[in-house]
Amino acid sequence: MMVIYLASGNPNKVREFRELAESAEQAGGRPQIEIRSASEVGGMPHVVEDTGSFTGNARKKAYALHERLPAGSWALADDSGLCVDALGGAPGVESAYYAGPRASGAENLAKLVAAMRDVPDGRRGAYYICVLFLFGLDGTEHVFEGRCSGHLVHDPAGSGGFGYDPLFIPDGYENTFAELEADLKNRLSHRGRAWAKLMEWADKPGKVRAES
Ligand code: IMP
Repeated sequence: MMVIYLASGNPNKVREFRELAESAEQAGGRPQIEIRSASEVGGMPHVVEDTGSFTGNARKKAYALHERLPAGSWALADDSGLCVDALGGAPGVESAYYAGPRASGAENLAKLVAAMRDVPDGRRGAYYICVLFLFGLDGTEHVFEGRCSGHLVHDPAGSGGFGYDPLFIPDGYENTFAELEADLKNRLSHRGRAWAKLMEWADKPGKVRAES
């Protein structure tokens, strides 16, 4: 059993990681993974996300939480965001703070709707990116990245997911992430893809489980 503490105070991320771990378990996945929230060890310490990169920020978050963890557990941080072609990659690494340091998801979304108002169809490409930083038992560091490409609609649609999901349609689909079933979002998403890489790595002999 691999016990992973999530270095995040974002309940939406915690929910999605739990869903990902559960669906891997239902599919007979190995190794067995238990996701625990930072709230179980006194909460996520405040981290200033100032490195300018997804990997740097994720690393900072994982290290900050790791100090609080019981021996034998792993710290996993997710730094993610939405990169919009027509905005030169913004909001990108600033996705959580796009409309200001204390902005809500709804405020960030409203700012993106406004910024994209005059951008025509065909020039509304965007991708989500998720960098997972896993800080290992023995101090080793592992990084997994997932991306999901798509485009932005003009008017937010749907109530699932979180953040910018009501605006984002993944390639090959006609509905926003906020309209798709949670399972489907998890299979396609940047987070789901980064998680699949982590699982593939963790299942290799000698990584998490003992050599058999
Ligand atoms: P972080 O907590 O600094 O990694 O910021 C992540 C931010 O990126 C979130 O607050 C959202 O604005 C955005 N984001 C990341 N992943 C998703 C997603 O799956 N759906 C919608 N927004 C996301």
